[in-house]
Amino acid sequence: MMSTVSACFEKIQNDTESHARLGRVRTARGSFETPGFLPVGTQGSVKSISPRELIEAGTQAILCNTYHLYVRPGLEVIERAGSLHRFIGWDKPILTDSGGYQVFSLTKMRKLTREGVEFNSHFDGRKIFLSPEIVMHIQSVLQSDIAMVFDECPPAESDKAYLKNSLDLTVEWARRSKQAHQNMSRDGVTPSLLFGIIQGGRFLDLRQESLERTVEIGFDGYAVGGVSVGEPHEQIEEVVREMGNRLPEHQVRYLMGVGTPKDLFMGVEAGFDFFDCVNPTRYGRNGSAFTSTGRLVIRNAKYTFDQKPIDETCGCYACRHFSRSYIRHLINCEEILGARLLSLHNVHFFLNLMRRMREAIQTGTFAALKKEFESHYEDDLR
Ligand SMILES: [Zn+2]
Repeated sequence: MMSTVSACFEKIQNDTESHARLGRVRTARGSFETPGFLPVGTQGSVKSISPRELIEAGTQAILCNTYHLYVRPGLEVIERAGSLHRFIGWDKPILTDSGGYQVFSLTKMRKLTREGVEFNSHFDGRKIFLSPEIVMHIQSVLQSDIAMVFDECPPAESDKAYLKNSLDLTVEWARRSKQAHQNMSRDGVTPSLLFGIIQGGRFLDLRQESLERTVEIGFDGYAVGGVSVGEPHEQIEEVVREMGNRLPEHQVRYLMGVGTPKDLFMGVEAGFDFFDCVNPTRYGRNGSAFTSTGRLVIRNAKYTFDQKPIDETCGCYACRHFSRSYIRHLINCEEILGARLLSLHNVHFFLNLMRRMREAIQTGTFAALKKEFESHYEDDLR
């Protein structure tokens, strides 16, 4: 198997008892430490949290959604600002997804050909055509630091024949994405890093084929996509555990769209280096906090008079200044501050968990940390 060794990832240390690794990803706008977690800024904003608050919470990089930004506000608006970073007031690394997942999950009336995919925007119904070349162009206008290849992301329940055809298409699109990326570099556009995406659904043999054919093309890093898209948790677990350490050892490994605190431990243990997920802000807006003992639903009547912080072990702004009783009141009155405080806490909680994992790998105590965490943490999301 050929692989392009990339200078963007430095593996610092291996865990002695699992596939977990400590490392660093270098991009044009600075580096981030791994294992790491990227909060998601779908529309160019990590919902309700300002860039300053993100940095205070320990955010080192964020993910923004190519599809959403392309639909609204559109490329011209962002191009006028100079870059996505300047447009949104964030000068650290940004990873942009390719839009594949959104095109195949949000839109209707899709027409899929080898050339690309035509669909109606979920926002205003306007006809849009995306191809690997167009998606690479969009990501170059955004000036993303890590760009992703354009892929087809089929539904979890697709049969094997469909997934095989889809895999062939995604490999072809990966090759075209790389070619377009190389042409842009040649034309003087500052090159982003470019990551390949492994598909293949729940079938490990298809995943392996996807891996081999994608690595043969050669990318700066590799992501496993199409996980946690509605399939049962046992299938998520099988793909994560099997695929993590099959990805090239000296390159960065990214597990897309995962997940819950327990899933992050599982992903790190399997050898993945970083993750992204909307969970911290989505659950925050809906009145849920992730805590060291599990998920806390703040609307629950038992918190009416509770003067304790959301999580007594947490040092975030929300936990240092406000009680469960008050945040419950805010959420019940639909006051914006309630959603903000819970989202802030959740982002802080996820980032702090990753920091603790990094420290544990460094000191050879990752297995002990995982065991200790899981002994306190009740996961109702599985
Ligand atoms: Zn907190």
